[in-house]
Amino acid sequence: MDCIFCKIANGEIPSTKVYEDDKILAFKDLDPQAPVHILIIPKEHIKWAYDVNSENCAVIAHIFSKIPEIARSQGLENGFRIVNNCGESAGQTVHHIHFHLMGGRDFGWPAG
Ligand code: 5GP
Ligand code: ZN
Repeated sequence: MDCIFCKIANGEIPSTKVYEDDKILAFKDLDPQAPVHILIIPKEHIKWAYDVNSENCAVIAHIFSKIPEIARSQGLENGFRIVNNCGESAGQTVHHIHFHLMGGRDFGWPAG
C-alpha cells in the first residue's frame, strides 16, 4: 500500500519522532501550523475516523492515553488542541488516521 504514514511508521520515510511505542508513533508535522504541531498515528493502517470500530478502537484509546505525556514533553502546559480531519471536506489529505496535537499559541474557534 502506498501510504506515507505507513512508511513513516515503518521507518521508510524519515520523521522527527517525539514518542514511539509498539502501537503508535508521534512525530513533528512537516508544515507546522503552530509552534508545536505533532501528528499522532496508529502504526496499523486505519484510513479515517469512519473506519474506527469496536475491533480497532483500543489503539485510538491508547493514543488518547498518551496525549498528556506527549503534550507535556513538548512543553504544552497551557492547553492544546487535538484535531482529526475526516474526509476531504474536513481537510484530510493523508488517508491514514492521525490526530494533530497543536499548541504554543492561541486558537480561534471553530476555525484557525
Ligand atoms: P491532514 O490534512 O490529512 O489532516 O494532515 C496531514 C498532515 O500531514 C499535514 O499537516 C501535513 O503537513 C503533514 N504531512 C504530510 N506529509 C508529511 C510527511 O511526509 N512528513 C510529515 N512529518 N508530515 C507530513
Ligand atoms: Zn497507512
